[in-house]
Amino acid sequence: MKSADVAVIGGGAVGSSIAYRLAEAGVEVILLERGSVCSGTSGATFAWVGAHGQRPFSYYQLRKASLDLFPDISRCLGFDVEYRPQGSLILLEDEAEFRAAQREVSELKEEGNQIDLLEPSELYALEPGLRAGFQGATYCPLGGSLNPFRLVCGYQRRARELGACIPGNTEVQEIRVRDGRVHSVITDSGDIRVERVVNAAGVHAPHVGRMVGLDVPVRPVRGQILVSEPLPPVISHILDDVRQTPSGNLLVGRLDEEAGYQNVCTPEGIGALASRARKIMPLTEKVHFIRAYSGLRPMPADELPILGETREVKGFFNAVMHSGITLSAVVGVLMAQLIKEGEAEIPLESYSPRRFQH
Ligand SMILES: Cc1cc2nc3c(=O)[nH]c(=O)nc-3n(C[C@H](O)[C@H](O)[C@H](O)COP(=O)(O)OP(=O)(O)OC[C@H]3O[C@@H](n4cnc5c(N)ncnc54)[C@H](O)[C@@H]3O)c2cc1C
Repeated sequence: MKSADVAVIGGGAVGSSIAYRLAEAGVEVILLERGSVCSGTSGATFAWVGAHGQRPFSYYQLRKASLDLFPDISRCLGFDVEYRPQGSLILLEDEAEFRAAQREVSELKEEGNQIDLLEPSELYALEPGLRAGFQGATYCPLGGSLNPFRLVCGYQRRARELGACIPGNTEVQEIRVRDGRVHSVITDSGDIRVERVVNAAGVHAPHVGRMVGLDVPVRPVRGQILVSEPLPPVISHILDDVRQTPSGNLLVGRLDEEAGYQNVCTPEGIGALASRARKIMPLTEKVHFIRAYSGLRPMPADELPILGETREVKGFFNAVMHSGITLSAVVGVLMAQLIKEGEAEIPLESYSPRRFQH
């Protein structure tokens, strides 16, 4: 039987970042992914790396800590993840939205959140290609966007260089527990003796949880994204639903749909996205959309990340969240600290899986 200190289940952005940081900390880690690189949600995302107006403040701070790592991430990984700092705008459609945003922005600023309210003249100075008539926007200067495929490849490449084992195409079928502790994982290519397991299986985290008899309260929330033909630069910020990639494609998202595990694009979804694009930017009326894709967000019951060891099964950790692209950088660092040292530099108690166990 093979062995490792830690088996990370799921090679998306979250699991790959954790494997990278564990390997960097000198922990013997094996990353088990049943599909190919980015075959899960990390390959079907909008990849906005942001903290725009997030609440509660401690969650904003967690995201901000992750954003602080991205400007240097390509250098750390030795691999360009195409991170572009951009800042983001959330458009305000009418007077009522503007007044509500005025109140919200002043509360958020009092808490310490970096956010501003823009008048229409300021908004159109930043983004002249917008359709006329928006009443302003909220603006967050932090964050940007990246190429999620390159991010996941970058985490895995660096993890391998630091000694992580990443066999690829390996499905975890069972987890054995002895005397209340994780003992081994059973895969389709053999058994592995491990001290700890990290469940980073995204929307499939509940299934992995059931392997040790635990409930992981996460549900899939479907999103769809339209991709345009490459265009010359037409926007420079993330406009809550639209961003432009370095190769010029517009991505128009994103929808929030309760569709179970049905990971498909629908005519209604594509139609809604095309109308949204036209409402924001007149030029999209003449643009060709060349493809669409869908993905399932791993959404915890209270929408906050689930990070940490379970009370019932020692050595079984969860790392499951929405916004896993944004959070992956800091979550890798913190989970590696938690696993190796028993605590992390940012307290994770409020994200512990124990909050769901009464
Ligand atoms: C339309 C859309 C837009 C989004 N926009 C953003 C955004 O702008 N910014 C942002 O930060 N986040 C965004 N998200 C959310 C973000 O993409 C996810 O939170 C993130 O990708 C989750 O990463 P993960 O590593 O947890 O999961 P995944 O990428 O799904 O990885 C989990 C992996 O586990 C593997 N796996 C499952 N079970 C097993 C098993 N038994 N054995 C082995 N492997 C297994 C799967 O094959 C999968 O590859 C968006 C999501 C969607 C769908």
